[in-house]
Amino acid sequence: MPAHVFQHIGYNFFYKYRRNKTAKIVKSVKLAIPSQGISVNRQSKTIWIPSLKLSLKYGFPGNFEKVNQIEIGEEYAYVSVSVSEPKLIQAKKWIGVDRNTVGHIVVVSDPETGAVIKLGKSAFHVHQKYKNIRRRLQKKGKYKKARQIKDKERRITRDINHKISRKIVDVAKESGKGIKLEDLTGIKSSKHNKKSFRRIKNSWPFYQLQTQIEYKAKLLGVEVAYVDPAYTSQICSRCGLIGDRNKKKFKCSHCGHVDQADANAGFNIAERPRIDRSAKDRDLVEGNTDIPKAVLARIRS
Ligand SMILES: [Zn+2]
Repeated sequence: MPAHVFQHIGYNFFYKYRRNKTAKIVKSVKLAIPSQGISVNRQSKTIWIPSLKLSLKYGFPGNFEKVNQIEIGEEYAYVSVSVSEPKLIQAKKWIGVDRNTVGHIVVVSDPETGAVIKLGKSAFHVHQKYKNIRRRLQKKGKYKKARQIKDKERRITRDINHKISRKIVDVAKESGKGIKLEDLTGIKSSKHNKKSFRRIKNSWPFYQLQTQIEYKAKLLGVEVAYVDPAYTSQICSRCGLIGDRNKKKFKCSHCGHVDQADANAGFNIAERPRIDRSAKDRDLVEGNTDIPKAVLARIRS
């Protein structure tokens, strides 16, 4: 399967590049180097492009089969590599990822160990912060600057999603478990979840996060499955009856179980049977334009 990795070029590149008088000066246009024009030294983790006299030290994992192409942009080199797809390990146990949480982007729960990991605490503020800045700039008529701020926000949220997805997949891999997520494609039609989901959906790119989880999981042979999202935060993870969720707290009047609401939801997600999503996957891909190029890792040198 092809994987795309960013490699930060750094100032050194521009220095070398501009000294090479035979090369064209590239500003925003990306320059594509085909595989024939690239040689890789795996010992020193260096990519050498003879035509540009450019040596790039790479920081991404070296387990790729070959470099397909490198696109050189202003700030980054986009390195496309082929990675052999590891065999999918059929999961017997699962961790549950709750994306509909209070105060965090996701909460990861492991019903076997009881472990709960909360990720992306301050990230929701990113959107509000940049929205406010944009609004101020637009009022002053600084539209170009406002667009740049929008791009900046996009980069920041994508980076946060990369970190969160990396952590989730690593936790699953290390514990030998699969990852269960709520199927959010159908949630819009679910009356019960409508309101809270709209809030979450508008404030964080969850489909992007989902794509990144799937992608990173695939590269490590970790299984990802989806469950019906209905009532995952209302049902008691101990007795299965409806309890009371009040913001961060969950309380079950039937069995007396008390838990953090997000953790309770995560346990429910982990233990719920998987659903067949093959038809919905297609809809998701067609209906979503916000998924970036599949990106394995963005590593600054
Ligand atoms: Zn209960």
